[in-house]
Amino acid sequence: MNLLQNKVALVTGGSRGIGEAIALRFAAAGAHVAFTYLSSAERAASVEAALQALGVKAKAYRSDAGDYGQAEQLINDVLADFGQLDIVVNNAGITRDTLMLRMTEQQWDEVMDTNLKSVFNLTKHALRPMMKNRGGSIINMSSIVGITGNAGQANYAASKAGIIGFSKSIAKEMGSRNIRCNVIAPGFIETDMTHVLDEKTKEAYLQNIPLKRLGKAEEVADVCVFLGADMSNYVSGQVISVCGGLNT
Ligand code: NAP
Repeated sequence: MNLLQNKVALVTGGSRGIGEAIALRFAAAGAHVAFTYLSSAERAASVEAALQALGVKAKAYRSDAGDYGQAEQLINDVLADFGQLDIVVNNAGITRDTLMLRMTEQQWDEVMDTNLKSVFNLTKHALRPMMKNRGGSIINMSSIVGITGNAGQANYAASKAGIIGFSKSIAKEMGSRNIRCNVIAPGFIETDMTHVLDEKTKEAYLQNIPLKRLGKAEEVADVCVFLGADMSNYVSGQVISVCGGLNT
């Protein structure tokens, strides 16, 4: 099903993990895909080739999502290369996990810049072309810990909770312009981000997940396809957990 035929999507952090899966699912659904990376140039080049092999236009951009100027340049470049912008997925994110007593200002700032300021940066510059286009879908990647909190992740949870308040506000502000803004809150998804966790932590999570398994990046990507497609045209300002029932 070509649910995203003729749409242009921008995915931040598309070189690995959930972002890569979103880019691939979008292309398979017929979208032309621009995506960003920060340091994985080789991975980004192979994702770009895989997308193009699906018969769509695709391009990787090196762009730090946490940098306001780079975000502005990125949107201008994507518009110059693709001509329009229909979907933005703010997916880039990092963790700097540690207990509050040990957390440094740098660990706080890095997470807030990459995870939260990035969402402001990209949304700010994407709104104008979306308004010109008379519509758009913004999808912001939060986390269930942004809803529940998590010991050892005060910085990360705060950034992910911030995304939810931001997104609901944008949905209210921009609804009259036919611009939708929704949030996905993944649970425990198998990617590089979660590979670093020790077995004991993973086991503890598994016990509490009703579906009794970790999630796949593609399962998050499928919800992105829904939110990017016209079949979700009356869905805005919502937080959709993709967590195997963990946040229930
Ligand atoms: P990942 O495998 O670590 O991949 C992170 C991606 O973000 C990479 O493509 C990376 O680019 C990019 N990135 C990092 N910093 C960036 C920056 N400043 N500017 C642009 N791109 C940047 O992470 P993931 O597990 O796929 O997570 C994706 C999103 O889902 C994140 O927002 C994460 O918080 C959220 N999430 C993940 C889980 C989970 O269980 N995995 C759960 C809840 C929420 P490089 O390859 O160049 O480094």
